[in-house]
Amino acid sequence: MRALITAEQIANRVRELGQEIRSKYPSENLLLICVLKGSVLFFADLARAIDGPTTMEFIRARSYEGTSSTGAVTLDGVPNLKDRHVVVVEDIVDTGLTLLKLRESIAAQSPASVSIVTLLDKPSRREHACHADFVGFTIEDHFVIGYGLDLDQVYRNLPYIAIYEGEA
Ligand code: 5GP
Repeated sequence: MRALITAEQIANRVRELGQEIRSKYPSENLLLICVLKGSVLFFADLARAIDGPTTMEFIRARSYEGTSSTGAVTLDGVPNLKDRHVVVVEDIVDTGLTLLKLRESIAAQSPASVSIVTLLDKPSRREHACHADFVGFTIEDHFVIGYGLDLDQVYRNLPYIAIYEGEA
């Protein structure tokens, strides 16, 4: 499979994102939220690229079946966020529905601040007005796999990001 974004490009950008996030919050204990399962590899690398104090929580968001969105988002395991500086770590923003739901349920818990970081952004597919505060890479309208992103739970372990072209 051909890489759209190589492992080296990912590693370089993740390092930069870690520094960008820490410069926005120089000394805060950041509550990093991993949105399972797609952001798990990104989360693990990004967490190590952020200096200083952080804590970690894990939530689950589900909207996709196969290569299309079901149009509904389910969130499980949202922790107590009151007065915390929250950094939500997402794999990809597509229609924006998941991000919208995430922002709503997080805002309802009175955090001190909320930032969203996404590895990938597909702005051409946006149906809901929302944006991430930090974006790794902006990509065209392709269904991508690898580095945490799946097709029916397969391919998450690819160390790079590839366009799925139906070669399974
Ligand atoms: P949204 O709610 O923005 O439409 O979709 C966000 C979720 O859909 C992502 O967190 C991800 O799980 C899934 N998704 C969107 N685009 C892609 C893609 O190109 N590849 C994969 N594997 N998942 C995607």
